[in-house]
Amino acid sequence: MSDISFESVRKVYNEEIIAVDDFDLTIEDGEFVSIVGPSGSGKSTLLRMIAGLEEISSGTIAIGDRPVNEIPPQHRGVAMVFQNYALYPHMNVRKNMSYGLKLTSDLPKDDVRERVEEAAEMMGIEDLLNKRPSELSGGQQQRVATGRAIVRDPEVFLMDEPLSNLDAKLRLHMRTELQRIQDDLETTTVYVTHDQEEALTMSDRIVVLDAGDLQQVGTPEEVFEQPANLFVARFIGSPTMNFLEVSYDEGALVGDGFSVDLPAAMADRIETGRSGSGLRLGIRPAALSIADETDECRIPAEIDVVEPAGSDTYVYLERDGAELTVRTESSTEITAQGAVEATFDVSDIHVFDIDSEQNLLLDEGEDVSIEATASSASSASKT
Ligand code: ADP
Repeated sequence: MSDISFESVRKVYNEEIIAVDDFDLTIEDGEFVSIVGPSGSGKSTLLRMIAGLEEISSGTIAIGDRPVNEIPPQHRGVAMVFQNYALYPHMNVRKNMSYGLKLTSDLPKDDVRERVEEAAEMMGIEDLLNKRPSELSGGQQQRVATGRAIVRDPEVFLMDEPLSNLDAKLRLHMRTELQRIQDDLETTTVYVTHDQEEALTMSDRIVVLDAGDLQQVGTPEEVFEQPANLFVARFIGSPTMNFLEVSYDEGALVGDGFSVDLPAAMADRIETGRSGSGLRLGIRPAALSIADETDECRIPAEIDVVEPAGSDTYVYLERDGAELTVRTESSTEITAQGAVEATFDVSDIHVFDIDSEQNLLLDEGEDVSIEATASSASSASKT
């Protein structure tokens, strides 16, 4: 078993910078978990503590049933792939791939050679074994770095932004390739990235961090569809979720120039959870469209820019200086100009308390929004 468990893990640098605070999590054996968050949120620190490259200030990290706090990096059964690949420039690819294994095991030479050749085949780099890193492209170096980790046959792969130095097309390709390898090997993998889209496409579960604090752990669907709080709602999803300030009034959300009647279950949640300091209505761009007269929920706005982007078209709307983004399929023709109304289905909304920043429509993992139906929504423009 090579699950990884964190118990009240904390990391303080120089007695003042709290990089990771009171972190609890279990990563299951064979799971692919991404850690996402903005720069400085503690992602690399977390990964480096698993690797043993950074001391843990307090708490326990265990791999399998073995606490590893005191175990040196080379004996933790982990292999790391870094953003800059960290290949030895004076060694050819074969030596780069075998070096770590020779240091940490007493495998006979022939077995080492066999493992290197198997990993090279897996990564499609058999032809590069005699080349030096300086003779390789960025993508090839990335493959070598990954191959070197595979050779070690570790219990855990740790990857720190391994694709961020590649161009966009190669990055997409390598995403699929890393997923394929992880599927084949079923090695527990912890993957650090600042790119939420990468995390959404690759992971079994996503860990969202902000300033060293765990914000949410969930499947890509959970963090996207049921963000725990405003931070996760803003961080996950591109384009970003739209937000509108609203207040709650007897079963309805009331904003500037619009009102949305809520199904009873949603209204109850909001009434119970709100602090009274105001609410933020969140709607994903894909959940918004341009309204016609038959739509019930309608928010008045002005069309600012219509931007075709391949299979999608983005329509940017303006409302009192604030922007609303509508994402539609490019086959939807946008003929409207000037003043329009944006519409949405009430089952697609998120409601956050401004004070606590919590998503009020979540309750112990239950998705109340699916109880709502379009027919229970209405728009009674109060202007
Ligand atoms: P991320 O990987 O999310 O960008 P890091 O884990 O690198 O975040 O950093 C988390 C916090 O810890 C940041 O405030 C960063 O400045 C600080 N930090 C990271 N490494 C060190 C270090 N070696 N010494 C002092 N502070 C550090």
